[in-house]
Amino acid sequence: MGYGRFSKFVGDPHWILVRWPTKCDKCGKPIAKGEQAFYYPHGKKMYGKACGCGEAARQDFRNMAEQEEFCGNASGGGDYEPELVPDDGNW
Ligand SMILES: [Zn+2]
Repeated sequence: MGYGRFSKFVGDPHWILVRWPTKCDKCGKPIAKGEQAFYYPHGKKMYGKACGCGEAARQDFRNMAEQEEFCGNASGGGDYEPELVPDDGNW
C-alpha cells in the first residue's frame, strides 16, 4: 500500500537525493544534504555523484546486469526459465 511506484526499484541500485550529510562509501568524500548519490539497497552503500563514484558504480551495475542477462544461471542447470530479454538483433 503506497509503495507501488518503488516496486521496480526493489533491490536495484538507483539515484537518490541524500537527506542528511553522509559520505561516499568508495572514496570517503562527504556528500552534502540534497546532493545526488547512487544507492545500493542491498549493501546500504552510497556513492557520491559529485566525486564521480556514483557514476562509476552505475556503470558497474549496468555491466553486471548485462552479463547476468547473457550468462546468468547458464551454468546452474536447467531448472530456470530465463526472462525475456530485449531483442537487439544479435541472434
Ligand atoms: Zn566517491
